[in-house]
Amino acid sequence: MRSLRILLGIAVFGVALAASASSGEGSSQPPQPPQGSQPQASQADKRFEVTVTPEMREHSRILDALYFVGTAYGLIVLLFVLATGLSHRIRDLVKTRWRYLTAFLYFAVLSVAIAILEFPLDYYSGFAVPHQFNLSTQTFASWMGDQAKGLAVSIVLGGLVVGLALLGIRKVRRWWLALWLGSIPLIILLVVIAPVLLDPLFNKFEPLKDASLRQALLEEATRAGIKGGSVYQVNKSKQTTTMNAYVTGIGPTKRLVLWDTTLQKMSRDEILAVMGHEMGHYVLNHVWKGVGFGLLVSLIVCFVGQRGYEAGLKRWGGRWKIEEPSDPAAMPWLLIVVSVIGFLLSPVSNGYSRHIEHQADIFGLELTHMNEPMASAFVKLAEDSKVDPSPNAFIEFWRYSHPSLTKRIEFVLHYKPWEQGKPNELWRP
Ligand SMILES: [Zn+2]
Repeated sequence: MRSLRILLGIAVFGVALAASASSGEGSSQPPQPPQGSQPQASQADKRFEVTVTPEMREHSRILDALYFVGTAYGLIVLLFVLATGLSHRIRDLVKTRWRYLTAFLYFAVLSVAIAILEFPLDYYSGFAVPHQFNLSTQTFASWMGDQAKGLAVSIVLGGLVVGLALLGIRKVRRWWLALWLGSIPLIILLVVIAPVLLDPLFNKFEPLKDASLRQALLEEATRAGIKGGSVYQVNKSKQTTTMNAYVTGIGPTKRLVLWDTTLQKMSRDEILAVMGHEMGHYVLNHVWKGVGFGLLVSLIVCFVGQRGYEAGLKRWGGRWKIEEPSDPAAMPWLLIVVSVIGFLLSPVSNGYSRHIEHQADIFGLELTHMNEPMASAFVKLAEDSKVDPSPNAFIEFWRYSHPSLTKRIEFVLHYKPWEQGKPNELWRP
């Protein structure tokens, strides 16, 4: 679903960054554990060592390559759409008297064209690889259904936003600022509605069923300082075998979510430890901070974006038969400019994400003192998602939203300020 991410994430500048604040512990950006058997590790520590398999290493190499190849492939597809004249032909095909409608229709047809052109890589990364490594429980039909739904959401939301963006480009000289200001309410709205309107399109969310666990989590939440919080479980086992938990939403839609796979595979203590981390995100307002940080990054993207966009159109606009800067046919070029800047800034946004993830680890430990269950939960996450425990420094720097699991396990086993009579950093009783 790269096209959804690129089109939606870019059409609504910065939303991908905001979303990263609410992304969970497992799944796509898996954390990393220690290598094989460390000589200094004592017998007792074996529980906290990840068993590294060749399969894990191969899987990670594929994921790392797909991250960079996928970005390049997305850019090539957009260039192809421009260079072959497909873009201006789509514009001529959908042209109406109403500019806004033309922009919407153009975006819809472009999205379908991109989805088709990107299908080989989407199929490989989204379906073939997870099946090759036994991480997916989905049939091809069900996976295609999710893809179609994702595309529909992207067309509706992206189309509405693109129409507005082109209006801004036409009417305002410093349109980068107009686009950025306009993106603020849109991003906040999207983060508010995502848990109640978008996520349920793909999965079923319901209040946590296990009454005794619910009670324990409620008590933990009260100690964390959360009033009236809600915990949901979601049937992710219909798509994947991997585990996750996350915080999402803002204001009335703010909630903690546990994948049912996590409920099945983790012990009660591990769940309480992991949820201590999630409650840290909740109490420390990490979704809001992620939105704020995302807006800061998108300010840069918009500012540099206008310059790159106009320079490119001056140079190649004639060849691509672009009539004016607000011509919908120039949309692929805007997407190229924004994705290149966004990609170059990804170490910055991932660095910020790793920082707040570390804060959530600190908060969770201070709240629960469950160092060992937290470490064994991380071991399970690593082994379960089949990711090489030793990412190289560059890969971690560029694309990891969480610190490597090696570092996290090491940290959570040793972070015990309460044993040394030191004050807590983040959680106050
Ligand atoms: Zn987290």
